[in-house]
Amino acid sequence: MKIIRSAKQFQKTLEAERLRKRTIGFVPTMGALHAGHLALVQASRKKNKITAVSIFVNPAQFGPGEDFKKYPRFFNRDAKLLREAGVDYLFYPAVEEIYPEGCSFLIKLDAAADFARGLCARFRPGHFEGVATVIAKLFNLSGACRAYFGVKDYQQTVVIRNLVKDLLIPVQIVVCPTLREKDGLAMSSRNQYLNAEERKHSAVIYQVLSGVKLCIENPSSGEMNLELLKKQALKNLKREGLNVQYFEIVNPETLLPVQVLESQMLAATACFAGKTRLIDNVIIRIPQRGKTRRG
Ligand code: AMP
Repeated sequence: MKIIRSAKQFQKTLEAERLRKRTIGFVPTMGALHAGHLALVQASRKKNKITAVSIFVNPAQFGPGEDFKKYPRFFNRDAKLLREAGVDYLFYPAVEEIYPEGCSFLIKLDAAADFARGLCARFRPGHFEGVATVIAKLFNLSGACRAYFGVKDYQQTVVIRNLVKDLLIPVQIVVCPTLREKDGLAMSSRNQYLNAEERKHSAVIYQVLSGVKLCIENPSSGEMNLELLKKQALKNLKREGLNVQYFEIVNPETLLPVQVLESQMLAATACFAGKTRLIDNVIIRIPQRGKTRRG
């Protein structure tokens, strides 16, 4: 595995790989890697000749008072994991490589775009503009054929799909499932902030999301009224001491709250366990009546 710190060098190296007709899979991360990140690497290795990973804690996506400074950084450990996972190139730029002095452009999201208004965007102003900006830069450097993202950050995947569509970036976005701890908590670099008590209570997040999914997908198993389901979910999260920022059931494309049941929905939540903000979601699918499977 080659570690590259210069943006120019990264671009040149991957261009040379493309000229040799090698397909490139790219996995952008902020480091402090866990099995969820490594699953993205494996998905990329299966489909592409070359896999490149970036580790960059992007200052533009953190708001004032958020955890940019204390975000966990374990470069040596991460590099070892990626080498063992068979990664070809690790791009590890300094902030100045991505945001050189005099850099005056930032990707702006249309405030009227439905997907950019609700869920996390409501509570993290500017966050997705920071994400879109860094991802566009990383795509320009990598020239990847495919880029891999986790569905855990669902709204981020919607932003990136729209970014690629609107800016005509020729990369295929591949979204991979969420890897979870044994008790269901979604793996996250931020889980290491949790103390033992907070860690124990955080398991309720996935239990509540799964409970809502079960109720809606199997009408015989319980309540179907969305408002009541949301109320119950909030109550269960609060009972474990979590401070809920939002719990929503939304359309998976527009991310607008659904009023009546739709064939596909997303239940998504952001909660604080102590000072740590955790997000998670599940897709809900209602089987269409009268449709039979063909063998
Ligand atoms: P991050 O380092 O948190 O910016 O995440 C880098 C990539 O890993 C993003 O595409 C995330 O959605 C993805 N990711 C984070 N946690 C998980 C997880 N538990 N399972 C699968 N992918 C994940």
